[in-house]
Amino acid sequence: MRVLTVIGNRPQFVKAAAVSGPLREAHEEILLHTGQHYDDELSTIFVEELGIPRPEIELGIGGGSNTEQTGRMLEALGPLLASEAPDAVLVYGDTNSTLAGALAGAQAQVPVAHVEAGMRSGDRTMPEELNRILTDHASDLLLCPSQVAVENLAIEGLGARAELVGDVMVDVAELVRPRAAKDSGPLEQAGVERGGYVLATAHRAANVDDPERLARLAELLAAVPDPVVLPLHPRTRARLEEAGLLAGLEESGVKLLAPLGYPAFTALLLGAKAVLTDSGGVQKEAYLAGIPCVTLRDTTEWVETVDLGWNRLVDLDAGKALEALQEQPSGARPAVYGDGRAGHHVVAALSPLAG
Ligand code: UDP
Repeated sequence: MRVLTVIGNRPQFVKAAAVSGPLREAHEEILLHTGQHYDDELSTIFVEELGIPRPEIELGIGGGSNTEQTGRMLEALGPLLASEAPDAVLVYGDTNSTLAGALAGAQAQVPVAHVEAGMRSGDRTMPEELNRILTDHASDLLLCPSQVAVENLAIEGLGARAELVGDVMVDVAELVRPRAAKDSGPLEQAGVERGGYVLATAHRAANVDDPERLARLAELLAAVPDPVVLPLHPRTRARLEEAGLLAGLEESGVKLLAPLGYPAFTALLLGAKAVLTDSGGVQKEAYLAGIPCVTLRDTTEWVETVDLGWNRLVDLDAGKALEALQEQPSGARPAVYGDGRAGHHVVAALSPLAG
């Protein structure tokens, strides 16, 4: 079978790292990078460190509004699907690249498989939530990371297309964790002691594109009494710079870093006292690593992390965030996101599509 995989940003590199290996053992894969987040340095790091194949096709489509970006991707993907003639299209997660890949596949009548299907935050103002819903409805095979995701799909009448495979990010986290746990290099470079700092990330449109919320975010980070390590997403760096908030943040003791490769980021996660984030993937990685997470949003699609007591949703309320950072979760961490072999389960589930 010939599978066209569409990826476009950082978390999708991580997800593809779990699937591409097993997929290429059984089938032919054409990896297509839309360029949604084009950062050559970061792409190279992910390719080298996680062993992802170099994309066979790069579209170089980044920037613009969500609508423009998705439109330009669709325009490019239509003819490519005709010339490459894949047997299936594989998409991951909830980005514009995910939606464009799924819709272009459906329109070309090529079966579409969606990895990380069924995730819902319940907040339709999030661009990612719209992408999740629309991608699931356009796809033929819905590969779910958790039982809750399977149930969400059943509620929307999509139960027959759903299959529980586990979360592909767990595969990668488990693979990288043993070495990252011993690597104190990233902690030394950031100038922090194991267990004595908070690792932060922020890049959601709702937190960084609105100047008023961006200022609240900066105030919240500055108010944390422990050292805060903040590897800055390019979008967040640009917004903080535009708003003149970057220098103040640094002066308040927040350690600003460039975006990190996955193993270095994992090393910092494992050494942290707690995590402060608006990232989807990082909430889950904190849960897997047993690091308390405080989420800078008022909803999450990774509901299990909250229900099991390892994640607190505080939006941008600094008081609540500081309080939540003091709490020590005591609950168990059952394997709600699969057995660490989701990549293999994805490939097994894809095979019938060749039909
Ligand atoms: N990540 C990374 N380097 C960083 C920050 C994050 O490798 O400096 C990884 C992180 O471990 C996770 C993924 O990037 O696997 C999450 O990506 P992001 O927060 O951009 O997206 P989201 O999960 O919110 O869609």
